[in-house]
Formats: sequence, C-alpha cells, structure tokens
Amino acid sequence: MTNIINGKEFAASLRAKVKVYVDEITKKENVTPGLAVILVGEDPASQVYVRNKGKQTIEAGMNSYEHKLDASTSRETLLNLVKKLNADDNVHGILCQLPLPDHLNEEEVINSIDPKKDVDGFHISNVGLLNTGQKSMVPCTPLGCLLLLKDRLGSLSGKNAVIIGRSNIVGKPMASLLLKESCTVTIAHSRTKNIEELCSTADILVAAVGRPEMVNKNWVKEGAIVIDVGINRIKKTVDGEEKNVLVGDVNFAAVKEIAGGITPVPGGVGPMTIACLLANTVTSCYRSRGLSDPEF
Ligand code: NDP
Repeated sequence: MTNIINGKEFAASLRAKVKVYVDEITKKENVTPGLAVILVGEDPASQVYVRNKGKQTIEAGMNSYEHKLDASTSRETLLNLVKKLNADDNVHGILCQLPLPDHLNEEEVINSIDPKKDVDGFHISNVGLLNTGQKSMVPCTPLGCLLLLKDRLGSLSGKNAVIIGRSNIVGKPMASLLLKESCTVTIAHSRTKNIEELCSTADILVAAVGRPEMVNKNWVKEGAIVIDVGINRIKKTVDGEEKNVLVGDVNFAAVKEIAGGITPVPGGVGPMTIACLLANTVTSCYRSRGLSDPEF
C-alpha cells in the first residue's frame, strides 16, 4: 500500500455516500437537505471556498442557499438573516464564512446560529457537547482528519497523538476527537519546548500551524501517520522558474520517505473539509426528522 493518503479520492467517495443518504431522505421524507452559506465582504479566498461549497452541495443533490452581503453589513442585518435561516425549515445547515469584517463579532454571530444547524460545529453548545463526549456537530476539518486516520489505521486506541496547533477550529476539536478514540493526546503550540523531540514520539502527528513546511524528517518517527492540515501559498523555484505554489506545514518530499502514511497538500485534508460539511448538513437533516444519524 502506498504511504500517500489520498484525501481527494476519499472525499469523492464520501460525497458519493452523502448523495445516497440525500436521495434516501428525499424519497422517504419528501425533504431535501439544504445548506445556507453567508459570505460578508469580498475576501478572495473566502469567495473561492463559498463557490466550491455551493457547487458541491448541488452536486450532492442538496439545496444550496448563498447569501452574499456587503462588507459594510451591519450587525443587526446579519443577526436578522441568521434568525430567519434558523426558522427556515428548508435550511438544515448554516455556515457563516470566516473571517468576518472587523466591525462584526465572530463569536456573537456563530453563537446566534441554531446549534442544531451549526454544521461548522463552532457554536459554544457544540464545543461543550464534543468536549464532554456527547453527540454534537463536529467541526469539518478535524472530522475529515479523523475519517482519514480511521481509514488508514482502523482502531486508534492507545496511539500516541501529537497535534501542533491549538486553534478552536482545528487543534482543540482534533484533540477532543482523538481523546474520544482513546489516543494519548498532546497539543503543541508556539510556546512548546523541544517540539521536534515531542513530535518524534508520535504515532499520529497532526500539523495545523500555518507555517510552510515546518515539520521536517527529524520531527517524525518512522512509520508514523502524518496529517497535514496547513495551507500555505508561497513562492517557490520549480524547474528554475519562480512560481506561486500551495504547500502544507510538512516538508512532504522529506517526510514521505519515513512516514507510514502522509496527506499531500493539495489533495489531502482540504477536499475532506467540504465533504464533511455536506455530511454534517445531511446529518442535521436526518436529526431534524428524528432519524438516526447517517454513518460516514
Ligand atoms: P491558527 O493561526 O488559528 O493557529 C495556529 C496554531 O499554530 C496556533 O495554536 C499557534 O500557536 C501554532 N503555532 C504557530 N507557530 C508555531 C510554531 N512555530 N511552532 C508551534 N506551533 C506554532 O490557525 P488554524 O488552526 O486556523 O489553521 C492552521 C493551518 O491550517 C493554516 O495553514 C490554515 O490555512 C489551515 N487550515 C486548513 C483547513 C483545511 O480545510 N485544510 C481548514 C482550516 C485551516 P499559539 O496558539 O501559541 O499562537
């Protein structure tokens, strides 16, 4: 088996599973899962993400509702839109694309979303449920990482996992998920001492930092599974020519020589994030009808 973990391929099979569940509930319950995405302002990266989300939502047979608001949108207008979507039975998932313009409070907006429709899993209720091991909406990127890890390793019980990064959207929920799988979990961050040494003890190493190719071969134990969440756009000389390229937080070429499994960038965790967003929307729709959760 190759040690490259093909997230692009896995995400395609996950989207196919999503579609089967969408078709089933549409037929049985006469309801089509719907995802509403709110974009405030014109951040170019956010525009690309929102476009991709909308396209893949429709391809999975779901309804996509895009709400594009001006960068100067007021707090009241945004909160009123969320309120309207919370009350709309056709909407099963609500996502507000981050970052928001400075005059809007991200925490307030996220916490105004109905937790049952919070398909990003960022609402404080979902954070609490996840951290206490209860049924919740799980943030998409860590969920995608978990699915890749379980596919590769089967049981994660007893594995030594090190996560680099302690953000609310990746590092912390990743730690909760791995703890729930009975891993021994350590979170490293910018103040961690002897980080290379610590990482080199990991059976599972998740890098969610935002520093291009920071994790090198000497950070990784032979045979470890390395999940690279980082997305960094850098200039690199390729065949004598300077190009804009996308790299992760891991030096892929070096680390793949010793890792038991490694996700590439692009084509690793990235595609899993949107596929998990679709999966969460379907799960929310099933829950809204009192049905048991789809199995992904
Ligand atoms: P944040 O900037 O919120 O967090 C980065 C974390 O890395 C912080 O905890 C920070 O520590 C830590 N860190 C920074 N520098 C170092 C260092 N030198 N050594 C050790 N730790 C360090 O980032 P996000 O979690 O939002 O995202 C991380 C990366 O993942 C980014 O590249 C982002 O683009 C990508 N990403 C990819 C997604 C995908 O779908 N594939 C989705 C979301 C994010 P401290 O807390 O001490 O400052």
